[in-house]
Amino acid sequence: MSEFAIITQYFSSFGAGANVLLSVGDDAAALRVDEGCELIVSTDTSVAGVHFPDDLFPEDIAYKAVAAAASDLAAMGASPLGMTLAISLPEHDALWLHGFSQGLAAASRDFDLPLVGGDTTRGLLSITVTVMGQCATGQKLLRSGASAGELLCVSGTLGDSALGLSMLQGKERGLDIDFEDQEFLLSRFSRPASRISLGLSLLGQATSCIDISDGLLADAAHIADASGCKLVIDSARLPMSEALAASIGRDRALAFALTGGEDFELLFSLPESKSLPDGCTIIGRVEAGEGVVCDQVLEKDGYDHFH
Ligand code: ADP
Ligand code: MG
Repeated sequence: MSEFAIITQYFSSFGAGANVLLSVGDDAAALRVDEGCELIVSTDTSVAGVHFPDDLFPEDIAYKAVAAAASDLAAMGASPLGMTLAISLPEHDALWLHGFSQGLAAASRDFDLPLVGGDTTRGLLSITVTVMGQCATGQKLLRSGASAGELLCVSGTLGDSALGLSMLQGKERGLDIDFEDQEFLLSRFSRPASRISLGLSLLGQATSCIDISDGLLADAAHIADASGCKLVIDSARLPMSEALAASIGRDRALAFALTGGEDFELLFSLPESKSLPDGCTIIGRVEAGEGVVCDQVLEKDGYDHFH
């Protein structure tokens, strides 16, 4: 099967969208940015064996790759316009490509991101998704706006994805985890929720925002650095799923919630006068100073590819 046949069969049928002027098939795509808006762009690469286990279902590999990139649009408060996919494939495997394309279509729908172009090459399995969104000029959420006296808040629950990955890696075999809890935890790794609408609802409300990809403590440090303030986290307030606590006990659950990556929840600062969005939890405060302080002492504060 030629490169072009692969593109036509698997990558060309979910490229339409309200702002898509030209999709897959020409030398480039064209997207309309609405009047008074700026273009928000982010890119994310996933490599087999590094970002996901090689044997993860192709549906999930695709879905997760889109979710990871889309999460950056959510963190900026951007509304989605479209995405491109640069994929390098070791071989032509029709079954794998079919599954991958299905996962891609599902994510395209869930995150409202038409697939408008990309690049297809042969090589070790690697997936790069570039997402484009728009935001009213000057309104986007940055990491840098937090100030002392504000509340520190997070969406959803933390640590589930990291435990899901640990289970996939076969590291939790000794545990007796309820079947439904297993399904939930695995899906939190492979099918992260979309926080796009939460990001949009934070515009004009939150003063800073980041998505949690490397772990709460590590990502909180980015807000603290960019905003020039101290974040104080109260570990007793961390939102954790029942599945997480029931599976591994409170102490380990807490460590996962503080340091586990890829929950793709939003962490944001909120002035006390604003109301807390549904599904979010206050986990601490912004104070004068620097760095992140938590009442728990941990060995490792997140995931860094080069350490
Ligand atoms: P060019 O040589 O002009 O860069 P290509 O031959 O690489 O174009 O791609 C042909 C068309 O197919 C382009 O519109 C490109 O954006 C699209 N395309 C290629 N690979 C993918 C992919 N993985 N997903 C979506 N669109 C793709
Ligand atoms: Mg060309």
